[in-house]
Amino acid sequence: MDRRDFLKFAALTASGIFFQPEKAAAYVLDTWEPPIRKLFLEFSEYEERPSTEVIVVHHAGFPDGDKDSSAEEIHKFHKETNGWAGIGYHFVIRKDGTIEQGRKLMAVGAHAYQHNKNSVGICVAGNFNFVKVPAVQWDSLKLLTAWLCQKFKLNPMKRGVIVGHKDLNDTTCPGENLYPKLGELRRYCRDFE
Ligand SMILES: [Zn+2]
Repeated sequence: MDRRDFLKFAALTASGIFFQPEKAAAYVLDTWEPPIRKLFLEFSEYEERPSTEVIVVHHAGFPDGDKDSSAEEIHKFHKETNGWAGIGYHFVIRKDGTIEQGRKLMAVGAHAYQHNKNSVGICVAGNFNFVKVPAVQWDSLKLLTAWLCQKFKLNPMKRGVIVGHKDLNDTTCPGENLYPKLGELRRYCRDFE
């Protein structure tokens, strides 16, 4: 196993989807996907994204505190309160590290004004202006982002590929405790490639 495969192996076994190391090693050499909880949410419309060049990291950022918002809750909010097709993010990472599917991966999202046609949006549940990112949530964000870079053949070190929402719009999202960690996230994805 070379360094690259070792990193994937370590990430997959740490994420708990494999209990048998031999099985994980065989899987790594073939194809892999992080564990994603599919929710089959209903959307009022669907538009396919023409390209994928950017991964945007968000926090849920509700002003009333650091909550463990689920994709279902955000879906309801975006649909009923904002009047959108449904949840604007493609993924939500819960406080326990669970990755939930939001909008369909190939759909145009609604998470970064004027940047939705070429980007995937990941929402990390919580408000990181108030608290630090829990380790399990951080690990899932690294794994998911690395997978997306691989899937869409993105160079994580290229400027503008892995960004925080505040790099695109006037917001503090993804919060002052998460935003400074994006450099580490990019390096993790580079080493994972
Ligand atoms: Zn945001």
